[in-house]
Amino acid sequence: MTDQQVILLLGPPGAGKGTQAIRLAESLELPHVATGDLFRENLAQATDLGMRAKGFMESGQLVPDELVLEMLFERVSRPDCASGYLLDGFPRTLPQAKALTGQLADQPVQTLLLEVPDDLLVDRAGGRLLCRGCNHIHHATHSAPRTEGVCDACGGELYRRKDDAPEVVTERLLVFQEQTQPVIDYYQERGSLVTIDGTQSPDEVFAALQARLSAGASPPGASA
Ligand code: AMP
Repeated sequence: MTDQQVILLLGPPGAGKGTQAIRLAESLELPHVATGDLFRENLAQATDLGMRAKGFMESGQLVPDELVLEMLFERVSRPDCASGYLLDGFPRTLPQAKALTGQLADQPVQTLLLEVPDDLLVDRAGGRLLCRGCNHIHHATHSAPRTEGVCDACGGELYRRKDDAPEVVTERLLVFQEQTQPVIDYYQERGSLVTIDGTQSPDEVFAALQARLSAGASPPGASA
């Protein structure tokens, strides 16, 4: 067992995981490890991994576990993750959750779930604008950038994710229900799940997450 701080941010697509993970990672001084961002970077660079993930991502399906696990475990083995990391978008299947449990041995994890009803999720994903430079997330109406198409945080170019199209979001929500809900049940059964109301404003959600983390998000004795 090590004293690494490992935080999992779970929630359906559009729940605000990315926005919150960036802020939380910054305030906790932990690396933000988002499997979706890692795949998009691989796709942009046309790596072999990116090419293998492309079709799954564009159709709203999950990338096969073996590809995800290899990429994720390589990432968290780097020196910047030595004292801990914040996972965003992982685990998304039961085998991924169990592989993480095995990898972390008895080390406790803090598991936070952002809950948002489906109708809001479609709206949030539909207006989402992502920065090519720093992965910062804007929303066309709820948090519009000061200059159209330009990221407030770094001046990078904003774009819409192909998989945020309404029909793909609907598919991603179905995939979430089928494949990621069992992950939530898994952490719930292990007593290490804290649920946050993700319908609040981004500042309120952030405050709630911080409060739960400083209170110790996992009940005593809970482990990965
Ligand atoms: P995200 O940015 O987290 O919504 O992820 C975008 C896409 O990347 C997903 O729809 C999946 O195709 C893929 N992906 C990201 N994380 C995972 C994961 N943990 N397991 C499987 N596929 C993933």
